[in-house]
Amino acid sequence: MTTDTLAPTGPNAAGVRWDLAPLVDGAQEARRRMQAALERSRAFESAYRGALATITADGLAEALAELAVLDNELSRVSSYAHLRESVDVTDEENRDLSAFIDRSLVEAGNALRFFELEWMALDEVRAVELADSPQVAADRHHLIGMRRFAPYMLSEPEERMLAEREPAATSAWQTLFSRITSTLEVAFDAGDGPEPHTIDRLLAHVRDPGRDLRRRALEALYEGLDPHADTLSHVYDTLVADRLAMDRLRGHEDPMDRTHLRNELDRAVVDTMMDAVEANYGLAQRWFRAKAGILGLDRLELWDQYAPIGAGRGVDFPEARRLIDTSFGRFSPRIAEIAGGFFTERRVDAEPRTGKRGGAFCASVAQDASPYVLMNFTDRMDDVMTLAHELGHGMHFTLAASRQTALSVHTGLALAEVPSTFAELLTFDHLMGTETDPATRRALICERVEGSFATVFRQTVLARYEQRAYGIRAEGQTLTADRLSEIWLDRNRAYYGDSVGLPEGYRLGWSYIPHFISTRFYTYAYVFAHLVTLALYSRYRAEGAPFAERYMAFLAAGGSAAPADLLRPLGVDLDDPACWEPGFAEMTRMVEAAEAG
Ligand SMILES: [Zn+2]
Repeated sequence: MTTDTLAPTGPNAAGVRWDLAPLVDGAQEARRRMQAALERSRAFESAYRGALATITADGLAEALAELAVLDNELSRVSSYAHLRESVDVTDEENRDLSAFIDRSLVEAGNALRFFELEWMALDEVRAVELADSPQVAADRHHLIGMRRFAPYMLSEPEERMLAEREPAATSAWQTLFSRITSTLEVAFDAGDGPEPHTIDRLLAHVRDPGRDLRRRALEALYEGLDPHADTLSHVYDTLVADRLAMDRLRGHEDPMDRTHLRNELDRAVVDTMMDAVEANYGLAQRWFRAKAGILGLDRLELWDQYAPIGAGRGVDFPEARRLIDTSFGRFSPRIAEIAGGFFTERRVDAEPRTGKRGGAFCASVAQDASPYVLMNFTDRMDDVMTLAHELGHGMHFTLAASRQTALSVHTGLALAEVPSTFAELLTFDHLMGTETDPATRRALICERVEGSFATVFRQTVLARYEQRAYGIRAEGQTLTADRLSEIWLDRNRAYYGDSVGLPEGYRLGWSYIPHFISTRFYTYAYVFAHLVTLALYSRYRAEGAPFAERYMAFLAAGGSAAPADLLRPLGVDLDDPACWEPGFAEMTRMVEAAEAG
């Protein structure tokens, strides 16, 4: 537990700024250290290039130890520069430093890349034999994991040619997509006369209390997208066709296989999960009908989906700290202590101010350093949940760093959001037990329900849409705007049923979603993490303290094993199709609570 006195702060966490000095002592020092790390990376290259073919287990252990040192130093210095910049993006020195660091990181990456390539090129029997040796036991999973794409690699000259063509074959289309979607502006009147609105600004209005404003904002969005639909569908069609061609050359059977490999999840696990999600679409429809009733409507229209129900009370920063401390402490004094360290060691920057970036994140920094949290605290209940979320990442990084090497500390995408979501649930549960203001309770529950839906159901709809698009393209049909709209509406109707009216313009809902363009099937990892977290939470409710012990061991395990192996000791068996049920039972509980208001 944190025992220091809570420093009083003004409104909006005034004065809560982090202290980066313990990381690196100033910009000059950062440049010097980066330069030294770069030279050390080049020295590593001279020492080890061409050596992996004949390396011994002792030699490999030495190489990994040096790589860990380099990883720590590069991560620490680059995190320092980016953290500095994130609280003052307008400062010239910060921007110059970031640019220098980014350039150096690319150079360091170039110097070190050979290691992974040579490791992947090793004969399978020899690689496994080396990875199994006790000298490198701490990085075994990392070593095996690096090789998971090896069976799908082409010959070296082929790979080199593909890499050289990458900017024209892929990146150019992605750039075109982001240019169109980021520069798209619609003149929209949100009440103060017409003003240019970007996609994000229009979408922000869907949470407005005013129904007419919500409707007009969505309609303006679709109207703005319409002239670009043909170009955007062509971009997508080209990328999908290219990915399918590459899959064929590399020997992947299914368009989702590379994503599964990256996430270290079996195809059967993901298929079963998505089927289970679809089987529970009725739960969402039930809530949409209930919400229509609460809002006094016959039926929800799409623009009512995120309409706010009630407003939560204000919360100042010291109270937020106390809420976190108590809710984490009930789970385990150790995690409350870790969270407390962020405040006492000034590793949180919560005060919004000019030049500071928006949003929130937790930077892991390095395995031999402590993580930092950035957020913009505005005295709202939402901010407490954001703080809990980021500190959830923080406890994961802290515990994993205490047990894992720099190379094995990070979990993959599938589990990265589990500790953060779990931390939110701890705080949410505590608030539900103590909060007396009915409007705040109602707002909290509704946000929780709709947040879960947006993650679990909505992201599944997106993945199902992609599956259908790749299927059609594989049959040789071009993905025209009309065809994509048809698939899009079809997959959305399966989700919403007749519980939500879909406006005509919604047929273009697929056109601006960046995940489809940047990384195929990216979104199911969110579904996975959220359902796993809900299942873990229901275990915790049933088991109490013994679960907390096992959960902390899971956090400390970092990225030392595949998700299935990390989750098994917690009682979640991914091979059991019933493992998804507790997640839906939790969601049902939340919907019931929301219906009861
Ligand atoms: Zn997160």
